Amino acid sequence: MTIGILGGGQLGYMLALAGYPLGLHFRFFDPSPEAPVGRIASRVTAEFSDQFALEKFSNGLELVTYEFENVAVTAARYLAERVPVFPPPAALEIAQDRLREKQLFQDLGIATTEFAAVASANVLDPAVKKIGLPAILKTCRMGYDGKGQWLLRTAEDVARAKQEMPAGVSAAHAHNEAPFILERFVPFDRELSVLAVRGRTGETAFYPLVENHHRGGILRLSLAPAPRLDPPVQRAAEDAARRVFESLQYVGVLAIEFFEKDGRLLANEMAPRVHNSGHWTIEGAVTSQFENHLRAVMGLPLGSTSAIGSSAMLNLIGDVPDSAGVLAIRDAHLHLYGKSPRAGRKLGHVTLRAGSSEQLASRLAELPGFFHRPESCLDSALAPVASRTGS
Ligand code: AMP
Repeated sequence: MTIGILGGGQLGYMLALAGYPLGLHFRFFDPSPEAPVGRIASRVTAEFSDQFALEKFSNGLELVTYEFENVAVTAARYLAERVPVFPPPAALEIAQDRLREKQLFQDLGIATTEFAAVASANVLDPAVKKIGLPAILKTCRMGYDGKGQWLLRTAEDVARAKQEMPAGVSAAHAHNEAPFILERFVPFDRELSVLAVRGRTGETAFYPLVENHHRGGILRLSLAPAPRLDPPVQRAAEDAARRVFESLQYVGVLAIEFFEKDGRLLANEMAPRVHNSGHWTIEGAVTSQFENHLRAVMGLPLGSTSAIGSSAMLNLIGDVPDSAGVLAIRDAHLHLYGKSPRAGRKLGHVTLRAGSSEQLASRLAELPGFFHRPESCLDSALAPVASRTGS
């Protein structure tokens, strides 16, 4: 049985690695000839707009899924006329637009920060008046890892944003959509994400919440299960995921990212796919997010989402440490994605596992200097909660 995957990055790579023991085969579709999956599976290299290539790609596939959320929705819909596509293309469409995503959360009664649609620089002032400062202005589409965002603290920041707001985001205008969203800045205590999975039979399962640390808009470190996790917070996250599942008749793994403030969750965004903050599940949970995604889309029973002790996942961004040095660390697991080094690029990750969150904290403190660089967020994550700020 061959599964088609749109996107050929590291998430696809790890999906395939989880699927081979289940007897599955994979075929990838990615516009980039550099996509790392080329080393381990067959691949079609073409643009998402190339219907002839999509047709060829879909021949003989059991189903299609995706590992990248900026896949053209038209491609997913085109394929859905030929072969089952999971998660539903509607989820992809919503997740590609920050405004529609927040509106969905709002419609489903999932708390978010206050937000307003901003059609152009001309209407930024009234939006700022409504939302208040500090606020964050974001492009609705294609922004990721902190790109396409302006933090507005003062009237000068607002004036500068008006100058810088690209007039060229006209594709959204053409669809009569607002190209920007203005959000009230959340002075959060911490960022959390939930990885949830729903099978074709409607069966659901939820991993314990993960605590995430970003720098420069890029995920650097995840701690799982999130330390000091209150059961009501976990339940609130599961409830949010359940609402999204039901409304979209979702199938597959879904990630929702939240801000936690005073024990309350505010949903920030969702990803209709396996997620970087779930990489710890490969060694740190009974069943990995990758295997559970495949089980879900194949209509197979889901596996246990229980954590095995406590894990930390450290992204390797821009450069990688010496493999021997990492593998000399007890219970450290190294994953390299086979990508050439470039500043800001996710090249791999390391998962460190321990018996408890206390043990994990002391093991993390002993990691070699490479992991203690300021941008890795490790030292700030290990600092007492009281000394942390939400920035
Ligand atoms: P996003 O592109 O929406 O995932 O945002 C990237 C990062 O910017 C988040 O992980 C947060 O650290 C920060 N951020 C985004 N939106 C807000 C907000 N409304 N308030 C505070 N921080 C935010």
